[in-house]
Amino acid sequence: MHIFLRRLSVSFAAVLLAAAPAAAQRATQPPLEVFHGFTLIDGTGRPPIADAAISVRGNSIVTVGSRRELLSGPSAPRNAIVINLGGGWVIPGLVDAHVHLSTTPDRATTEAELFRLLHGGVTAVRDMAGDARALASLARDSRLGEIDAPDVYFSAVMAGPPFMSDPRPQAASAGETAGDVPWIQAITPETDIVQAVARAKGTYATGIKIMADISAEGVARITEEAHRQGMQVWAHSMVVPARPIQGIRSGVDVISHACDLAWEAMAEVPQRYDHDMRPRYGSFTADSPVFTEVFTEMRARGTILDPTLATYARAERQASDAPTTGCDLGFARELVARAAAEGVRIAAGSDFATPPDDPFPALYLELEELVTSGALSPMDAIVAATSGAAEAIGVQDTYGTLAHARPVNFVLLRESPLEDIANLRSVVSVWKNAVRYERTAYRSRFQPSDAVAARPAAAVSGGAATPNALLDAWIGMWRRYDLDGVEELFVADDALTYFASDRERLIEGIDAVRAYHADLGFVPGGFAPENELWLEHVTIADFGESAVVGAMWYFGNRVNRQAAARGPMTMVLTSTSSGFKISHLNFGNYAPER
Ligand SMILES: [Zn+2]
Repeated sequence: MHIFLRRLSVSFAAVLLAAAPAAAQRATQPPLEVFHGFTLIDGTGRPPIADAAISVRGNSIVTVGSRRELLSGPSAPRNAIVINLGGGWVIPGLVDAHVHLSTTPDRATTEAELFRLLHGGVTAVRDMAGDARALASLARDSRLGEIDAPDVYFSAVMAGPPFMSDPRPQAASAGETAGDVPWIQAITPETDIVQAVARAKGTYATGIKIMADISAEGVARITEEAHRQGMQVWAHSMVVPARPIQGIRSGVDVISHACDLAWEAMAEVPQRYDHDMRPRYGSFTADSPVFTEVFTEMRARGTILDPTLATYARAERQASDAPTTGCDLGFARELVARAAAEGVRIAAGSDFATPPDDPFPALYLELEELVTSGALSPMDAIVAATSGAAEAIGVQDTYGTLAHARPVNFVLLRESPLEDIANLRSVVSVWKNAVRYERTAYRSRFQPSDAVAARPAAAVSGGAATPNALLDAWIGMWRRYDLDGVEELFVADDALTYFASDRERLIEGIDAVRAYHADLGFVPGGFAPENELWLEHVTIADFGESAVVGAMWYFGNRVNRQAAARGPMTMVLTSTSSGFKISHLNFGNYAPER
């Protein structure tokens, strides 16, 4: 009895001694949480783990394994918070390796896009050219949790001087001169590359994007110096005049756009970048030996391919009313399948955004395209959008796989993405840096005007099917300065009044409407105007046979919103035998915003 008591008191003392540091530790450490009740896909491509579990402490994964190991084994924690996720599939947070968030920065729209991305399970993105002033701000705010957004990584652009007249670098350097700013630099053989890379790095960019109009020698100089300064190098697959294989041999980390690899099959390549340049399809196939050489080189060097396949498919679908990408879709699909079969690492990137009324991000469409085209299995598609895309950014030690000491970024899906990659749409919850976002809480944050303005103009001949489609078509007419649209969209009536209240005279009759548009610079067939018309605060009251649209109109350069002309607008739409047409318009003119 006595011995027993002594033993008891000794062990009690031992407990007391051990308890003091443990308590101190508990005060500074967040509790251990163990999630279970799901099948795990860890992002490495390894087979899924059924009945899996993940333990986390704060924003750090402690262990990934089976529920048995984590919760019933000898080292099972005593005081963990155990959370049953109720069935389904867990994948790492997705990474979109190709977005454009700030070509023309618009903070509200970009935040709406980032909010949608996050609620679609995307926890990191790679921006592939834009206004770094805006991108750095988004990257900071996302990193600090001040906005609900994926982590933002971005590029600083390098291209030859001719490329700087393209509207994209112009927009992304608004207020300054494209080519002269650190995030969009014009590179010539005389450029001090050490200095240029240092300037690019100072923008908080992760990588250099080599876009166009740089020689093979130039690509090699930039790549070597960027790597020396610890930056990634991301290039167009055809930099022009540098060929794909020359870019790859220079050691660039990632090449974008599968279709442009076609140039490798051409004896002659363009010497200057031209958006509409097109190789001679039909003179080669995806099986041509020249591509074997390309893929062998890529595999040997670990060069990653960012195919952007869905954007080609999308362009083909819209080909009736939008310019094509100059890509042969069938060829591109076969080429990506070959690249994957040859062991080239693939990173999934979208390069476009879905319309604002789409609840899911464009990355889903890229993954669906990669699978349905036969290029990748669902498992390989998930790898391409997790560890593959993370590697493209150069953050594979942090993102893309679920393992010990990584941040808590994962996604719970109700249905199996291995059965059907479209089951990404069954997303239930998203954890980003240990903060849990519920899909049921997702509401579009896009403004109604974005929904109207961002949809492509409907192909109209004689009226539109709905008031909404007519409004789209009318904006499309302004986008293209298309005089033919007057015939198609307005009721052809001599009594029609089109009255701009403050500044314009009373415009009566269809001939006057046509003349009014011609005076504004509209031409038959249309051209791309420098300024654009857009609407905000749009409401459509639909009465069946007629509809009334109320909105604020803006006209000018969207980069410089405050200087745009603006005012209230009322549009009356009438249902005719050939669909809805405009029967009256009233424009008010306000002074520009100050
Ligand atoms: Zn792009």
